[in-house]
Amino acid sequence: MRISRIYTPANLNTGSDVCLDAKAYKHTKEVLRLKSGDQVVLFNGDGFDYLGVIEKLAKKQLHIVLNEKIQLDNESALFIHLLVPLSRSDKMDWCLQKATELGVAKITPVNTERVNFTIPADRIDKKMHHWQAVINSACEQSGRARIPVLSEPVSFTRALHNSSDNQLKLVASPGNDNSLTTLSEQKITNCACLIGPEGGFSTTELTQAAEAEFRVVSLGPRILRLETAVVTMSALLQSRWGDIG
Ligand code: SAM
Repeated sequence: MRISRIYTPANLNTGSDVCLDAKAYKHTKEVLRLKSGDQVVLFNGDGFDYLGVIEKLAKKQLHIVLNEKIQLDNESALFIHLLVPLSRSDKMDWCLQKATELGVAKITPVNTERVNFTIPADRIDKKMHHWQAVINSACEQSGRARIPVLSEPVSFTRALHNSSDNQLKLVASPGNDNSLTTLSEQKITNCACLIGPEGGFSTTELTQAAEAEFRVVSLGPRILRLETAVVTMSALLQSRWGDIG
């Protein structure tokens, strides 16, 4: 039987007893349906899984005794920084979840010209909290012990500026013949890639991206929805220079 994995921001050490919060208690009892004596894995993003046993699961308390520390080796050698357009909740959640499953290392929501979705300044913290929870949960499910970095939303110009150090910079836009396989680079270890909103990038944005040394790439002859483009780009990058395939 597969052992359930639970994310916690707590410090973890073998031989110690960890007490998780009420939310983890509820999830463990009502969703995972675990009970005292069951094995469980905790992780906090330090690259290790901590195998333990539930000592107490009662009165809103979840105590776990950790007895083994296991180093995981499932992170890609390719650091992918995905720049995704801000979009409404379910679409954004889907992009974050799938990108995490596909081994993306960093995700930055970007406000582009044709993004028709805004988050009031006083709700950014709440949104970030929600998005982080989606990412953490995708790490629980996919077996990752490193949590992708989630940056606060930035403007298109800022996204270009923040990517200046990346070895390879790509912008996905339909209607060209530059597939990923046509790129001549044999070894890439870090890459930033921009995906556009449902309305695509404006001509000005594509010009700005080219000036910032982003190369336009195609994801095939059909127009993909934003979330399909995120999955396709992440999988193709991992297949070309990372750990898929
Ligand atoms: N009419 C829009 C356009 O011309 O860009 C379509 C936008 S598409 C729904 C959303 C985003 O997914 C695009 O901005 C692009 O980043 C990416 N995308 C979708 N299909 C693609 C393709 N065949 N090649 C490259 N990028 C694609």
